[in-house]
Amino acid sequence: MTTITIWGCRGSLATPGAEFDKYGGNTSCVQITGNDGTILILDAGTGLSDLGKTVKEPSKKYNLLLTHLHMDHIQGMGFFPPFFNPEAEVNIWGPSSTTMNLRTRLTRYMSPPLFPVTLRDLPCKLTLNEVHHDSFKIGPFKISSDLIGHVGPTVGYRIECADGVITYIPDHEPALGVVNFPLERQWTSGSALAANADILIHDAQYSDKEYNKCQGWGHSAFNDTLKFAAQARVKHLIPFHHDPSHTDDNLDQLISETVGSQKLEFKVTAARERAVFKLPVLNTQDPVKKPNQE
Ligand SMILES: [Zn+2]
Ligand SMILES: [Zn+2]
Repeated sequence: MTTITIWGCRGSLATPGAEFDKYGGNTSCVQITGNDGTILILDAGTGLSDLGKTVKEPSKKYNLLLTHLHMDHIQGMGFFPPFFNPEAEVNIWGPSSTTMNLRTRLTRYMSPPLFPVTLRDLPCKLTLNEVHHDSFKIGPFKISSDLIGHVGPTVGYRIECADGVITYIPDHEPALGVVNFPLERQWTSGSALAANADILIHDAQYSDKEYNKCQGWGHSAFNDTLKFAAQARVKHLIPFHHDPSHTDDNLDQLISETVGSQKLEFKVTAARERAVFKLPVLNTQDPVKKPNQE
């Protein structure tokens, strides 16, 4: 069994507060645990801090796959205990830019004045791997990365294992510049990564009305995400990267307005902090207990 745990699904900015309690306020972080215990961490948003509290084996190997280096995807890095443990092995994958390698880009955040500890001073065994259009293996997972349409160098990940296929594209604007979205598959950004995925975790930040004002900002209208998922023939869509201005009530309304009346050939479950999805069993969403809850 492979489990997928959502530790943060808020887009752009962390949003603490009672009105965000249902979907959660932490930014992008998803844990995938393989049937042999291999852990993949997708993005290091503020949700990584809560994931870090569950770490029981500091000497384990952690694999952190970054889609890009916007703050909402790296801000949790300094709050993940294995980075500070000499026994731990942390391997990071992420994109370089045309002018800077991944280490230099990450060091811009992991150094004063933005953070008191520099990347090179972290005591863990740290390796950095640059990805663009690549394919590699981690434990039971075969991973493909590819550049996708966002602002700045950004990749999406397709993760295949014996239990199924998970595609993770948290920040994505495939409809940018397309009059009648979607174009054919081969012209649609990210479509090869998402093709026939069992689970697609995908940007769904805006309503149609909001998207009209925010074209070119790198994110998707919820309706376009549904079209993208339909074209890719996924089995289960998990809309992700909720707008920081959307309260739980706003999100419930957006979901019922966009999904409610449509006949879709796939399941839709909006991402919620601490939700757990399982492969190959697809219809489970159990909340993870908070440390102070029985
Ligand atoms: Zn983001
Ligand atoms: Zn971004």
